[in-house]
Amino acid sequence: MKQGIVYLVGAGPGDPGLITVKGAQCLRRADVVVYDYLANPELLEQAPEGAELIYVGKRKGLHHLPQDQINELLVEKAQQGKVVVRLKGGDPYVFGRGGEEALQLRRAGIAFEVVPGITAAFAAAAYAGIPLTHRDFTTSLALVTGHEDPSKKMSSLDWEKLATGVGTLVFYMGMANLELITEQLMRHGRPPSTPVAIIRWATKPVQETLMATLGNLVDKVRESGFKPPAVIVVGEVVALREQLRWFDNRPLFGKRVLVTRTVAQAGSFSTLLQQQGAAPVSCPVIELAPPQSWAALDAEIDRLAETDVLILTSANAVDVFFDRLRAQGKDVRALAGITLVAVGPKTAAAIEARGLRPDLVPVDYRAEGIIEALKEQGVAGKRILYPRAELAREVIPQKLSEAGAKVAAPIAYRTLPPKEGAEQIRELLSQGAIDAVTFTSSSTVENLCHMLGEEASHLLNKVTICSIGPLTTQTAKRLGLTVAVEPNNSTLEALVEAMVEYYRSQEPGARSLELLP
Ligand code: SAH
Repeated sequence: MKQGIVYLVGAGPGDPGLITVKGAQCLRRADVVVYDYLANPELLEQAPEGAELIYVGKRKGLHHLPQDQINELLVEKAQQGKVVVRLKGGDPYVFGRGGEEALQLRRAGIAFEVVPGITAAFAAAAYAGIPLTHRDFTTSLALVTGHEDPSKKMSSLDWEKLATGVGTLVFYMGMANLELITEQLMRHGRPPSTPVAIIRWATKPVQETLMATLGNLVDKVRESGFKPPAVIVVGEVVALREQLRWFDNRPLFGKRVLVTRTVAQAGSFSTLLQQQGAAPVSCPVIELAPPQSWAALDAEIDRLAETDVLILTSANAVDVFFDRLRAQGKDVRALAGITLVAVGPKTAAAIEARGLRPDLVPVDYRAEGIIEALKEQGVAGKRILYPRAELAREVIPQKLSEAGAKVAAPIAYRTLPPKEGAEQIRELLSQGAIDAVTFTSSSTVENLCHMLGEEASHLLNKVTICSIGPLTTQTAKRLGLTVAVEPNNSTLEALVEAMVEYYRSQEPGARSLELLP
């Protein structure tokens, strides 16, 4: 039988980008993934389809599976010849019981390898703007457990040496013992004025930092209700945060932004938002469906030889058109000599991806821009094909026909509101768990309002409404919504920029979750 193996993999602190390349490779080969509370579940998407995913918990007080049973589980799965990834938060060998698991595997004669991860102390310090060492302040660092084996007393830590013998201290699992930790450090010689930072959910969009001193930490935590999981950083280096902050002062930091695009399109927009610090919440309000019948589009594909201009107004229209072309036994050669028009850069990129270069992208990324540009070239007597969405505006066929063109506008796809998901969005909005909602087309506004029903304007006017351009804004107004953000240029990049500007202009204090000292 195939030999099984266990990879003890560090998942990193939370940001899914902070797993190692090797760790991700292991995940992609896994038959079984055994994961913890602190390992970001998004990472599981990297495991192959059909891999067995086993959650073993380990949230304080809510132990899902006792450690000895986790050990047994690893042994058992490996003995079945499987590739097992034991995915652990941070680094597997730093306060993670990875050592115990490895010893058990060794005893059972199971092959294992260890893939280190970025431990919470390193990640939290970096993302809070605190260099753990700096020549001017400290040359040594200790990682300390603030919650020892429950059967032992805290006093097994040598407080005197910790207090005065080490520069920077980072406590893990220390939130329940804060009083003891601060008291012991001060009693053994650390000045009460020593700066302290507590960093919660480091590297995640919900990261929070509390700044204090050894002397006032306990009171501050009590006042603010600060909760685990968090690391406590003690030492003069903590003061550098004031100058070195970079993560949680980004313009959209911590803003929960509803992204209403289709699943396929949401990714790139979400990435743009994340780069500014936002936490995108994906909520596709459009499902794409084929037309009731392909007959009209197919008939036009048969007449491509007589066609002069092809207008494509979305990346989706590009995909549908080229797929249909192929389904009809043709390929891009059928487009030879046809002027290709793309409404904007994204559509142009989709055309380029098919190995073709668009001939025309208007300056104004809208139907009006296309009409203008084509009229300039002269359209009288030309045959124009415009495969469109079912609910698309009539302005292109209308204006170009008026200018003397013969326009065919077969339906290439329909956009429908999804059947599921309304309940979840309604809940998030009414709980105040969303800060802003983004609309990238009229149909995203219409569909979301449709999904939310009668309460739509009431729920949506509680958050910052961001619209990609004037037409989408018009639709939003018609449905009783007040748009706060609209860029001059109708692109996703410009929309994100306009959001950044908007939040900048808001009072600075509202920008982050920072709890000031
Ligand atoms: N093996 C892990 C540590 C597990 S012990 C590692 O190397 O990071 C659990 C403790 O880690 C928590 O109580 C908390 O102190 C710390 N921790 C883990 N992830 C954290 C995060 N994202 N932000 C702050 N602290 C975190």
